[in-house]
Amino acid sequence: MIEENSTIVIGAGISGSCTAYHLNKAGCDVTVIDEKKEDDIQIYSNPAVCVYPKIMLNDPNFNKFMLLSTDYVWSLIKAIGLKEEYTRKAGAIHLYEMKDGISRYEKLIKNTSYTSHDVELIDQEIIKKRFGIIDYIGFHFKKGGWINPKAFCKKLIEDKNIKKIFSSKIISVERIKGYWTILTEDKKMFTAKNIIFCSASNIKNYKYFSALKLDEYRGQVDWLSNKKNSFREVLSNDGYVIPDVNKKIIFGSSYEKNNFNTEPSHTDTVNNINKLKKLMPSLKYSLLNDRINNWVGQRAASFDKKPFVGRVLKTRNSLISPIKYSAEDLDWYEGLFINTCYGSRGFSFAPLASLSLAKLITHNLNDDDKFILNYLNPERQFFKKQGIKKQGVRFN
Ligand SMILES: Cc1cc2nc3c(=O)[nH]c(=O)nc-3n(C[C@H](O)[C@H](O)[C@H](O)COP(=O)(O)OP(=O)(O)OC[C@H]3O[C@@H](n4cnc5c(N)ncnc54)[C@H](O)[C@@H]3O)c2cc1C
Repeated sequence: MIEENSTIVIGAGISGSCTAYHLNKAGCDVTVIDEKKEDDIQIYSNPAVCVYPKIMLNDPNFNKFMLLSTDYVWSLIKAIGLKEEYTRKAGAIHLYEMKDGISRYEKLIKNTSYTSHDVELIDQEIIKKRFGIIDYIGFHFKKGGWINPKAFCKKLIEDKNIKKIFSSKIISVERIKGYWTILTEDKKMFTAKNIIFCSASNIKNYKYFSALKLDEYRGQVDWLSNKKNSFREVLSNDGYVIPDVNKKIIFGSSYEKNNFNTEPSHTDTVNNINKLKKLMPSLKYSLLNDRINNWVGQRAASFDKKPFVGRVLKTRNSLISPIKYSAEDLDWYEGLFINTCYGSRGFSFAPLASLSLAKLITHNLNDDDKFILNYLNPERQFFKKQGIKKQGVRFN
C-alpha cells in the first residue's frame, strides 16, 4: 500500500538533503534517490562553501529572504549538532572601494531590513591593519561563515527513517492513477504521493518544467595547505577566500555559462590565485609553489538568478487577466514540486526555502513561508507576463 504522505526526493545535494530532513521531521515517509554513489556526489568533494550574505539594494524581498535564510542556516546547524570541525560562523566581510562602499552602506541601513547589528561597516584603517588591503572598506556580515557540504548533507539525512537510494539514475517520472511512478536506469520502480525534484538542472529533461528558463554555470575552486592564519572571516570582493578550513585555504571561484568540462582548468587556477592575492596580500607566496588542489562543479541558475521552489502549472490557458485569481483556482500538477536553481548560494538559501516547501506539502505555512514561496514561485515569469503579479495575488 502507498502511504498518503509518501514522498520521493530526487537528489541528495543540499536542497534534497534539507527537503528530506524537514519532511521526515514533519512525519512524512521519505525516500531520497541520487544517481551518484554516495561518496561521488558532486558537492561532497568541495571542502567548504561560504555562507556569505549578499545585498541587492533595489530588491527588498531579496534582502529579507537573505536575512531570514542566513539566520536559519546556523540554527539548523545547531539543531542537527554538526561538529565544529565541519563549520564555523566566522563572519564574512565583503570589500568595497571607499566611496562606493560608504554610500551603499548608508542605503543598506536606510532602505533594507538589515541593521548595524547584522552588518557592520569596517573602516579603511582596520581593513589595512587586519588584512593588509589598501583603500577598501568592508561590510562585516555577522551571519557569514563556512560549511563542509558532505558533512552537512550526510548529517541531514542520517535518520534511519529516511530511505536512501544511491547509484540510481531516475529516467522517467509519470503520474499514474493519482500517484507518481518513477523508473530508474537500473530498473527499479518507486511510487509515491509526492515527488520533489531537487536535481538541479536535471529538471530540463522533464516535460513538466519545459516553461522554466535556466542555465548551468561551471565553476572551480582551488585550495592549498596553510598552518598559520592571521584571520578567520570569509573575505570576498571579486572572488572569495575561506582562510581557515582545517589548515586549508579555499579560494575561488570561476563562473562560466554552459561550459560542461569536468576537468580542472589551469587558467581557472591562475585566475583564482590572482583573486587570492588581492584578498590575502600578506600570504607567503612560496605557498603557491606547493600542490594546489581543485574542485569543479556545475551550478544551476534560473533566468533571474533566484531559485525555483514550489509547484508548477499543468495548464496555463485558464489565466486571463483581469479576473482575480487565488492559487487554488489554478491548475497545478498535484504532488509535484521543485526545489532547485540555487546558483552560488545553495548553502545560504536551501535550508530555509526547503523548510517552507516542506510546510507547503504538509499544509502548515506561516507568513514567512508564504513570503518565501511567493518570491521563489517557479511560475513567476509567467505570472508577470500575464500581468497577474501586479494584482498582488499570492500563488502559494
Ligand atoms: C565552484 C563553485 C563554488 C561554489 N561555492 C559556493 C559557496 O561558497 N556557497 C554556496 O552556498 N554555494 C556555492 N556553490 C553553489 C552550490 O554548490 C549550489 O548552490 C548547490 O550545490 C546546489 O545544490 P542542489 O542540491 O540544488 O544541487 P546539486 O548539489 O547539484 O544536487 C543535485 C543532485 O541531484 C542528483 N541528480 C541529478 N539528476 C538525477 C537523476 N536523474 N536521478 C537521480 N539523481 C539525480 C545529482 O547527482 C546531485 O547529487 C558553488 C558552486 C560551484 C560550482
